[in-house]
Amino acid sequence: MIYIALVLLVIALVLFWRSRRVRQKSGLPPGRIVYSDPKLWGKSEKPFYDVETQLTGKPDYLISQGMTLIPVEVKSHYAPAEPYPSHVYQLLAYCFLVEQETGQTPPHGILQYRNRTFEIEYGGQQRTALLDLLEEMREDARLKDCPRSHEERIRCQRCGFRHVCDQKL
Ligand code: SF4
Repeated sequence: MIYIALVLLVIALVLFWRSRRVRQKSGLPPGRIVYSDPKLWGKSEKPFYDVETQLTGKPDYLISQGMTLIPVEVKSHYAPAEPYPSHVYQLLAYCFLVEQETGQTPPHGILQYRNRTFEIEYGGQQRTALLDLLEEMREDARLKDCPRSHEERIRCQRCGFRHVCDQKL
């Protein structure tokens, strides 16, 4: 009996050690993982949805630190000197969706590149910037001709609208 208990204890310790290593390698901040994207962890959860703004989506991870929920977005490539604005706004959108869904405002979100992690602040100023951007996008969507706003060929190469866009680089 004692022998079986010892074996189970060793197995439990090995599993604990392995999960800690996975966690350390992932670079995630401390806290409990509330859910994660199925493509990363094989578990499915419904995306967040906000009726008023029509925003929907979910971050790769949602980390619970006490009463606070922190969205984490993982990018597989190396970090630029500063996070791309599109990545920042994507993360702010997740912070906003978490806020609408739970009534709790995340103080920040995490952008995790392959080699570096950025903490992106979230609050009233960032919420206003996000809502302004959404309004601007809605106005642009109503226009027949919407000029390209950048000169980044790589951005167009990764864009999901490339096949229908007459402004692509
Ligand atoms: S393909 Fe068109 S929509 Fe996509 S990033 Fe380039 S210009 Fe913008």
